[in-house]
Amino acid sequence: MVMHMTKTTVLISGASVAGPALAYFLHRDGYDVTVIERAPHLRDSGYPVDFRGQALDVLEEIGILAEVRAHDTKMRGTTLVDEKGGEIGRLPAETFAGELEVPKQDLTRILHRITADDVAYVFDDSISALIQHESGVTVEFERGTIRDFDLVIGADGVYSKVRQLTFGPHADMLRHLGLSGVGFSTANYLGLDRSGLLQHTPDTAIYLFIPNAAKRLTVSLSFATASPALDRCDRDEQEKAVRAAFTGHNWEAPRLLEAMSKADDYYFSSASQVDLDHWSCGRITLVGDAGYCAAPTSSMGTSQALIAAWTLARSLADAGGDHATAFAAYEAELRPYVAENQIKGQQTATMLGGGATPMGW
Ligand SMILES: Cc1cc2nc3c(=O)[nH]c(=O)nc-3n(C[C@H](O)[C@H](O)[C@H](O)COP(=O)(O)OP(=O)(O)OC[C@H]3O[C@@H](n4cnc5c(N)ncnc54)[C@H](O)[C@@H]3O)c2cc1C
Repeated sequence: MVMHMTKTTVLISGASVAGPALAYFLHRDGYDVTVIERAPHLRDSGYPVDFRGQALDVLEEIGILAEVRAHDTKMRGTTLVDEKGGEIGRLPAETFAGELEVPKQDLTRILHRITADDVAYVFDDSISALIQHESGVTVEFERGTIRDFDLVIGADGVYSKVRQLTFGPHADMLRHLGLSGVGFSTANYLGLDRSGLLQHTPDTAIYLFIPNAAKRLTVSLSFATASPALDRCDRDEQEKAVRAAFTGHNWEAPRLLEAMSKADDYYFSSASQVDLDHWSCGRITLVGDAGYCAAPTSSMGTSQALIAAWTLARSLADAGGDHATAFAAYEAELRPYVAENQIKGQQTATMLGGGATPMGW
């Protein structure tokens, strides 16, 4: 008689960095993995993300380091300018680009491609309810499906639905770092080539850059805010706040504000950190920004997401699949690293005075 072992079923919410990376490791270790993504297709976020330290080893272990390297933005550095655009200093490429920097969409696309044949991806849907019981988690989806899984993992970012359903409202878990910003692209009218320009005042920062192979200039306009409330507002309201923050600014501000309104790749985000007493509850845990976002100002979010996915998968393997032991080991091992990254995120946010640090996109 042939014995069929039933595979442990895992639902991962979020198909960006932490989600697909974890899906890769869990499939490799024999799990039956489903990934659900709220967006109708892979997100094509235009900003670059960088890798530092052990994150490069994780890319190597997944077998994609060379492919990811092929998308290197090859940034050469950033010129600091005064309010009229005159040069006042220079920052080396590593400040923003780490040891390796690639457009986020390329990383996500590679991680998806290497898992797509083995992992069930469901786009354009979201978890709407999670009911834990002794032997599993019953999951209800917005599109009406109801399914049972052995484990559920939230890799769904700062505003994680899994976290909200399991641990409570966002407001109780977000630590705002005092700034928000808008990102978009426009024509490269300044003729930059793999370089950036940064102008900051105590309350604002303008960061313009053009990575390798890009034809358009990436614009980041950051400004001091009292809360992340604008994240949930519509574009008109956000743009109004950006315009108000940059009123009276010279240099490129007027032209950039005009370009903002026409941008079709407009993106708004606040610098917030996620702070939880525990990352897991029963059969549910969190990975990446969902559980312990360090904020864009840390420049560690992508490295942290990759290292976290690898640590969680390794903890499950070491514990022979005993999720309670594995989740505790994962948290114990990763917490000091997360704490370091969060301190970095806080320090950078306040370094320039009133919190006007470029958010990196
Ligand atoms: C403007 C900006 C600039 C940044 N710059 C840098 C940088 O220079 N360097 C760096 O290392 N990091 C940077 N980061 C941070 C980096 O992008 C994140 O830390 C990293 O992507 C974390 O990955 P993640 O997979 O945990 O979460 P995310 O990348 O946030 O992905 C979450 C995924 O979950 C999906 N999702 C959300 N809600 C649901 C739901 N209800 N159901 C299903 N799916 C859902 C989202 O659509 C998304 O695909 C930046 C972030 C921002 C916002």
